[in-house]
Amino acid sequence: MVKIVCPSCGGAKTGYRIACGDRGCRTGEITCDFCKGEGQVSSEASERWHRGDALRKARVERGLTLSEQAAILGVAPKALNDVEFGRRRLEELVDVGALRCEGIVPVAGEK
Ligand SMILES: [Zn+2]
Repeated sequence: MVKIVCPSCGGAKTGYRIACGDRGCRTGEITCDFCKGEGQVSSEASERWHRGDALRKARVERGLTLSEQAAILGVAPKALNDVEFGRRRLEELVDVGALRCEGIVPVAGEK
């Protein structure tokens, strides 16, 4: 299987998040959630990530929240979140062809 640089962390294998507690906020290093710290993913996973990213950007451009978009698609917000972060394929949840005709799913970037 072809391995390419993780699109989520750019091959850094880690990401940062801000953890806030009683003693204030500090930046913590976390293992990249998408490649599980490998820095590389399969080409299939990378394509899935980019499609989720495009879907998320299209949603933001339309001014929709995750919950609103999920309601339009008729899926659970959690499931849509998984799709936007490349953890699931939209095809698993809905009939993408029909949505594309209605302009809900971006066509740009499709092969
Ligand atoms: Zn990564």
